[in-house]
Amino acid sequence: MAMVVEAKYADGTGVVNALRMVPAEWRELQRAYRIGDLVMPCCPSPAIPKVSANGHPFFAHASGACSSSKESQWHLTAKILVRSELENLGCRASIEEPGSGVAGRWQADVLAERGKVNLAVEIQRSYQSLRDYCDRQQRYSAAGVQALWLLRDDRYRTLINSMGKERLRTEFGGKFPPSGHFNPCLPGIPVARLELEPEPMISGAGFFSARVPQLLDAALNGRFMWVDGLWCIDNLDAMRMAAQQSRDRAAARQRDKPSCG
Ligand SMILES: [Zn+2]
Repeated sequence: MAMVVEAKYADGTGVVNALRMVPAEWRELQRAYRIGDLVMPCCPSPAIPKVSANGHPFFAHASGACSSSKESQWHLTAKILVRSELENLGCRASIEEPGSGVAGRWQADVLAERGKVNLAVEIQRSYQSLRDYCDRQQRYSAAGVQALWLLRDDRYRTLINSMGKERLRTEFGGKFPPSGHFNPCLPGIPVARLELEPEPMISGAGFFSARVPQLLDAALNGRFMWVDGLWCIDNLDAMRMAAQQSRDRAAARQRDKPSCG
């Protein structure tokens, strides 16, 4: 079960987002909530605030079962996660946001705006051809919107395979380079693999890996880059983010120390 980070109050007074709460606040929610106070975003099931084996707060279905399909559950969980992380990075962000430009209309899974940057994150769950990826990418760039594709493992593999064939055909004349190896990604399609279980994680060709906020921050800052057939974050940024995360973790540990120590 993918980890859901946001639940709604049943009385319509708003939402609770696990990514905006320090551990002490989450524990207080776990202590104080009553079954039925909170509802899952995917179906009418009551939401139960929990903590994963790795220490991540999330909401689970009270009954253990979701009445929406596994696919749409994954898709919605991913959209809410990406929207929440983009908001945490100072963006105005929304889900299923329609728009248009000179090359046509779109509906972005998540559309974010921060300063002069507009970023569309497409969380593709169903098959589409390389041509479709290119067309949709073109529609965004024609409207001055950056696009980022986050794909589930099966879709990612299919796209990587198509992109590799395209590179082989257009750049290497259909013949493998003498080294016998080349990297598959096309420069026009910024793409990474998104996994939600056991916890949200980004990865990609060439052993690329990142946390979700790290990738989104890089995309907003123009640091998610195509280098020689691979999409990756420049190393400087990754190191800075790792240092920040370790400072954040240290600060969180400090905050949660029992005061009677
Ligand atoms: Zn559900």
